[in-house]
Amino acid sequence: MIKKIEHIGIAVKNLESSNDLFKKLFGAAHYKVEAVESEGVSTSFFMLGETKIELLQATNESSSIAKFIDKKGEGIHHIAYAVDNIKEEMERLRGEGFDLIHTEPKDGADNKRICFLHPKSTNGVLVELCEEKTKL
Ligand code: ZN
Repeated sequence: MIKKIEHIGIAVKNLESSNDLFKKLFGAAHYKVEAVESEGVSTSFFMLGETKIELLQATNESSSIAKFIDKKGEGIHHIAYAVDNIKEEMERLRGEGFDLIHTEPKDGADNKRICFLHPKSTNGVLVELCEEKTKL
């Protein structure tokens, strides 16, 4: 079951200057910066009540964020929904006819297991599912 919006991902060209910009907007600084090498991105996270904002900057040319910015410019990149059991949810959504980009959950930023749904099956919105990894 999808529980809530976990975060909204925003593609930016320059993480450092965007961190400053969003700090001014929110009146609070980001609480972490994290690179996800497998995705070719560097991310930062802001906490707004129960919802987070994730800024994403490409760290190489072939990163999906670099391609997104080339095509559409900076802006909202994806909406991430929190789920309790990502494998169950992936199975359910596959059964409903959604097009999943990943066949298995993968490691994402901020201690999550994640999966993306293809925007062509979700009215043009890139959807991320994320499950909090059990804390050690
Ligand atoms: Zn995300």
